[in-house]
Amino acid sequence: MSTLLDFADIKSRHTIERVLEKRGVQLKKTSAGWQCKCPVHHEEHGMSFQIDSKKQLAKCHGKCQCGWDVIKLVMDLESVDAIGACELLEGRPLRDGHHTEHKREPAPEPPPKIHAPREMPTRAKLSKMWKGEMRHWMRVAELRKLPHEGGVALAVENGVLRFCMAYDIPSWAVLDIENPCNIQLRRMDGELWWGEVKVMGVKGNWAAWPVGLSVALKHPTADILLVEGTGDFVAAWHYAESGATGGIPVAMFGASQNIHPSALALLTARRVRIIEQADEAGAKASQRWAAQLAEVGAAVEVRRIPTAGEDLNDHLSAGRDTAWLLEG
Ligand SMILES: [Zn+2]
Repeated sequence: MSTLLDFADIKSRHTIERVLEKRGVQLKKTSAGWQCKCPVHHEEHGMSFQIDSKKQLAKCHGKCQCGWDVIKLVMDLESVDAIGACELLEGRPLRDGHHTEHKREPAPEPPPKIHAPREMPTRAKLSKMWKGEMRHWMRVAELRKLPHEGGVALAVENGVLRFCMAYDIPSWAVLDIENPCNIQLRRMDGELWWGEVKVMGVKGNWAAWPVGLSVALKHPTADILLVEGTGDFVAAWHYAESGATGGIPVAMFGASQNIHPSALALLTARRVRIIEQADEAGAKASQRWAAQLAEVGAAVEVRRIPTAGEDLNDHLSAGRDTAWLLEG
C-alpha cells in the first residue's frame, strides 16, 4: 500500500504554513510568502526560515542551509520517514500493519564539534559561572606571566573574572558578574579557539560595554584605569593589588570600539587614566575614548606605555618602573 501513496496529492492538500502554525511558530509576512525562526535548527535570533507560499517550498538560509517541501519538513521536524510524515499530515494510518512504528531510529549523537563551529556560544550554552579555586587562579596567573595568583583572586573577588565551560573547554571569563552584558572567554589550556582566536565573545554581547564598570561605580572617588583587552585587564588587577598602578581597572575589548553611550553616562566627572598601547591602533583608540569621556566631563589623562612593542601585561610582568602610570 505504501508504494501507492500519491505524494503530489498529499502535498496539494497541506501547506508548510499550516504545519508551522500548528506548532505555534510565529510567521511574518514577506513579499514572496512568510519567514520565521528556523524550527529545524531551533533558531533563537533572526529569521532564517523563508517560505515561498506559491511553490510551497521553504529554505533555511542560516545554519541548515537546505530546503524542504511540506513532507520533507514534517520528516525533519518529527523524525519520521516519508510515509510517517504523510500519516501525520493526513491524520490517519497509511501503511499496512504496524503503522504506529513509523519513528525513525534516532541518529547517533554526532561527536562534539570543537573546531567546526565558528559561532559564538549563547549564554545558555555556557556552564555556570564559577569562582574557581587556587589552582585555577594560579593557572591564569601562569598564562599571564604574573608572579603569583593574588591579583587573579582579587579580580574574582570583585566579580570581574569567572571560570566556566565553553564548548566543553575549561575557560576563564572576563565580565561584570553584576551586569554580565559583555563576556569575553579565553581557554584555560592557553590554546586558541578554533586554532585561530585568543578571545571569544558571547552571542548578544554588548561589545562596547566597559567591563569592570560595576566595580568602579562602587568606588566613586577612585581613579579609573582604562585598558584594552583581557590580558591587560587581568594584569591591571594584579598590579592594582600591589598598589603599583593605582585605580580601578576597567577594560574595553577591541581598539575599534567606542564606549557604549549608556556606560559613558555613568562615567560623568570621573578621573580616568587611559593606558595607551604603543601602536597606531592604540593611539587612535585612546584619542577617541578621551574625546568621549571629555564630553561627559570626565578628567582624562592618557598614559602611553613607554616601551614599544609591549602591552601593559608585558610591561608589568617584566618588572619595569610604573611611575609613568601613577597619579599626577
Ligand atoms: Zn535552520
